[in-house]
Amino acid sequence: MSAARITERPARILVIGGSYAGLSVALNLLDLCNGLPSRFTGNNSPLIPSQRVPVEITIVDERDGFYHLIGSPLAFASSEYALKAWTLFQDIPALQTSAVKFVRGSISDLDCEERLATIIEHGTQQSVHIEYDYFVAASGLRRAAPSAPQALSRKQYLLETAEHIRAAEAAKDGVIVVGAGAVGIEMAAELKLLLPKIKVTLIHSRSRILSSEPLPDEFKDLALKLVHEAGVKTILDVRVIETIESKTSDSAPFEVLLSDGRRIKAGLVINAVSKFHPTASYLPPRALDPEGYVKIKPSLQFNSDIPNAFYHHAAGDIVSWSGIKRCGTAMHQGQYAAINIHKKILAQICGITPTYKELAFDVPPMMGLAVGKKAASCGPPDHTVTAGEDVMQLFFGNDLALTICWNYMRLGDAPFKVEPLSTSVDGEDTKVDTLSSQRANLYMKRLSVR
Ligand SMILES: Cc1cc2nc3c(=O)[nH]c(=O)nc-3n(C[C@H](O)[C@H](O)[C@H](O)COP(=O)(O)OP(=O)(O)OC[C@H]3O[C@@H](n4cnc5c(N)ncnc54)[C@H](O)[C@@H]3O)c2cc1C
Repeated sequence: MSAARITERPARILVIGGSYAGLSVALNLLDLCNGLPSRFTGNNSPLIPSQRVPVEITIVDERDGFYHLIGSPLAFASSEYALKAWTLFQDIPALQTSAVKFVRGSISDLDCEERLATIIEHGTQQSVHIEYDYFVAASGLRRAAPSAPQALSRKQYLLETAEHIRAAEAAKDGVIVVGAGAVGIEMAAELKLLLPKIKVTLIHSRSRILSSEPLPDEFKDLALKLVHEAGVKTILDVRVIETIESKTSDSAPFEVLLSDGRRIKAGLVINAVSKFHPTASYLPPRALDPEGYVKIKPSLQFNSDIPNAFYHHAAGDIVSWSGIKRCGTAMHQGQYAAINIHKKILAQICGITPTYKELAFDVPPMMGLAVGKKAASCGPPDHTVTAGEDVMQLFFGNDLALTICWNYMRLGDAPFKVEPLSTSVDGEDTKVDTLSSQRANLYMKRLSVR
């Protein structure tokens, strides 16, 4: 007898965060609970009716849509691109099923013992309580602008990016980007690419760019070469002491005072010095490490003595785990959380002890960096450092990986029809699955570096 027929009610899964990690949890879980292989697996297994279980997935997000965070450097340089980088949840075909519900709001508290979340609903600001069977924290990091837009609606975000783009276009005295981490580098290079007449200067306090990343010097030096090739000027090994805003209209709007005494005029100053912190303040403190990240087991289950830890999971940037925070990792962890939750649901029905999918303990540092028309990459197995327009195409395509991520998560596919149970073992569903497996294999290769 299929599991779906012996369960009393759907398992209720609450996912906080509707971005790479959260959507990967929801979509892979939908696949598995419909008896399909998880969409990232890329194998050709047929439908397995006995794996089918009814689920109700609730996704809570402060935003009204999926925002492609990787595309921020371009969204803050091109209005045309900004339109594409944020898709309202209601416009994502893969999520249009009665098994998925959205709540727009911010989680403020989690009662793990009662398995009850408190959400401050957007608009009304009222507290709403949501009961759940399984919980996934996928709310990532709180990032300052312009790494991420501060707006929470697509409409406001378009105004926010448009204002930034207008300011850059009007910056006759040039744009200064402070901080040559990955975000600063990509932001400076995209602005120079889109606004070639504007002088763009990248200032960094260390002698090498990407100084806080655990990556080989060869990669950092190559990245600097690409920055210069892209037409961005650099000032290294000096700190910005102060940014002074001019009160008069006859001089440049800003003057930047450097630690070596230099003063540089600018029409716009962008602060790209990394400012972020995990968003897990709604969780019990003992579920978190000293920096505020969620302590997890390799199976993505909470690794703390909170009540009902078995039912609580976390995925994506919010977790305390090795490796550079990357969207490929967030999606991978989302998939594993989905697989393990599905196993737990089945195990409770059938009374078996499952073997969980587990993350590798030591995730080596890896990165793909888009610098104008070219990209640099560095990663396992041998930390090969490579760069070029072909690397850009492979890792980012023409839109800073928006299409790659969209297709990898298969956000544009209509959800599989669940009923009737018997029709999907062969025929159309299997054909679609084979096609999607090929696609999944291709995208996984691309996403394996950053
Ligand atoms: C500018 C930039 C460029 C990047 N480039 C790359 C790259 O090239 N390659 C790469 O692999 N990685 C890149 N990254 C890193 C990558 O974007 C992150 O690793 C990835 O976004 C993590 O996904 P996530 O789903 O865990 O979290 P996020 O993408 O941060 O999503 C978290 C979601 O949770 C929601 N949320 C937060 N708090 C709450 C709350 N209290 N209640 C409800 N909802 C909440 C947010 O609105 C958001 O939708 C880049 C990051 C930045 C900032």
